[in-house]
Amino acid sequence: MEIINGTELSAKIRQTIKQEVEEIKTQGKRPPLLSVILVGDNPASQSYVRGKEKACLSVGMENRTIRLDAGISQEELIQVVRNQNEDPDVDGILVQLPLPDHFDADPILDQISPDKDVDGLHPVNAGLLLTGRDGLVPCTPSGVMEMLKSIGLEDLSGLNAVVIGRSNLVGKPLSLLLQQKNATVTMAHSRTKDLAQICSQADILIAAVGKEKMITKEYIKEGAVVIDVGINRMANGKLCGDVDFDDVKDKVSAITPVPGGVGPMTVCMLLMNTLKAYKEHEAYGR
Ligand code: NDP
Repeated sequence: MEIINGTELSAKIRQTIKQEVEEIKTQGKRPPLLSVILVGDNPASQSYVRGKEKACLSVGMENRTIRLDAGISQEELIQVVRNQNEDPDVDGILVQLPLPDHFDADPILDQISPDKDVDGLHPVNAGLLLTGRDGLVPCTPSGVMEMLKSIGLEDLSGLNAVVIGRSNLVGKPLSLLLQQKNATVTMAHSRTKDLAQICSQADILIAAVGKEKMITKEYIKEGAVVIDVGINRMANGKLCGDVDFDDVKDKVSAITPVPGGVGPMTVCMLLMNTLKAYKEHEAYGR
């Protein structure tokens, strides 16, 4: 059984990003800049934003965190996003989610220029992915694809993939990426009947649900590759995934741990998207 170590894999990819950024700087050009907008004082969001600041620093990218009071209005927040759109130094814009309750997130995310939308959540980028064209792809799904690639699963022809979860952030884009690589994809969700039976047909099983250790060995095909996207906090304060790691580990051929699996890959793909946006901006302007 192989453990797909997201911490190690992301460190390797970050190294190549760092080299590219160094080359950019050596040429006397400005480095890529990621602008993160954080509204309010949600402790988890604050910690995620600190992680993104550190990640930028680690590869030599510029980072700008715009911290805003939870009390600002929807219109004020939209104006902040527009200002970042118009700033020629900014390559990537990310609005940290979740926003406080009084905001309607979709119209705010829709304001981000698609060419700066490093979270890949703008309908233009979602549409480009749906139609198989080049755009900015959400970070967690592309991180999962990198993990599959790292164990030699690049062309998925003939393989059954089951994705549990159908969110715009993870499940939907991931199912499209798997399809692009020729997997036969089944999408499961809370209304799916006989979930264990469906999952037990999967050569590649991806859990993106948010339910502590719900995937046990009954859900697993012998020799399956299991990617655990879930991040859940247990009663003892520790993190765990959607997959019961100890229960399934003897049945799988490869599995991602939580923590240290998909999480670090997500941040790494954010850097990758920022670099990609930067290159487009340098080539075609903003
Ligand atoms: P959402 O809550 O948006 O989506 C959860 C999905 O799971 C929904 O489609 C829901 O179905 C489905 N679901 C819920 N309960 C069940 C069930 N009992 N059986 C089958 N399907 C079920 O979550 P996200 O997609 O945003 O995130 C999923 C998990 O991944 C969370 O734990 C989150 O913390 C984690 N995450 C991890 C990241 C990382 O970097 N590692 C990044 C992003 C998320 P329905 O649509 O019918 O409601």
